Amino acid sequence: MVIIAATKNKNKIREMEAITSRLGMHIVPRDEAGVPEVEIVEDGTTFEENSLKKAMEIMRLSGEAAIADDSGLEVDYLDGAPGVWSARFAGEDSDDETNNQKLLRLMDGVPEEQRTARFVCVITLVYPDGTSVVARGECHGRILTVPQGENGFGYDPLFVADGMDKSFAEISQGEKNRISHRALALNKLDSILKGNR
Ligand code: IMP
Repeated sequence: MVIIAATKNKNKIREMEAITSRLGMHIVPRDEAGVPEVEIVEDGTTFEENSLKKAMEIMRLSGEAAIADDSGLEVDYLDGAPGVWSARFAGEDSDDETNNQKLLRLMDGVPEEQRTARFVCVITLVYPDGTSVVARGECHGRILTVPQGENGFGYDPLFVADGMDKSFAEISQGEKNRISHRALALNKLDSILKGNR
C-alpha cells in the first residue's frame, strides 16, 4: 500500500517509513507523487486538528492514503505557548534564532522548577475512505536559561529532556530519535497499526 506524505522533509519521511515499511506500507513524498502544489493553512488550535487537516487534504488531492505530522513546544509557565504557533512564535518572518530569543526573553528570571515544558508530535494517517488513525508523542523536560549545543533545529538548544543533562542540540541525532516526541508518536502509530491488522 502507498501512503502519500504531507511533508516534503526527507528526515521526517525516513523516520516514518522506518515504521510503516515493516507493515508493508511505502511512503511517497507529496511532490514525488504529483500532488498539486497547494498551500495548506495550519489554522487549527491543536496539533491534532492541524495534522488531520494536512493528511485529509493530501488524501483528497491524491485519492491515496496520506500521513501528516504536526509538532511544537509547550511551556507550562507560558500556559502551553508557543504550542501550535511554535514555527511562527516571533512573527511571520521569524526563524529559529528569533523564536529562541523570544522564548528566553519571556522566561527571563523564571526559576528552575517553573521551567517545565514538553515537545509534542501528533501523526495522523488518513485512509482513502476518510477513516483515520491518530498517534501522539510527548517528550517532557525543561527550558534552559542559555542556548547549548549546535545540533538539531528549532528549540533544540533550549530544551533538556527529563533524566538528561544535555540539550537536544548537544546529543546525537540517533540519541534524539530514541526519546523524541516524533519517535514516541511513531512507536505509538506502530502499535496501533499492528493492533489493527
Ligand atoms: P512542524 O511540525 O515541522 O511544523 O514544526 C513546528 C515547529 O515546532 C518547528 O518549526 C520548531 O520550531 C518546533 N519543533 C518541532 N519539533 C521540534 C524538535 O524536535 N526540536 C526543536 N523544535 C521543534
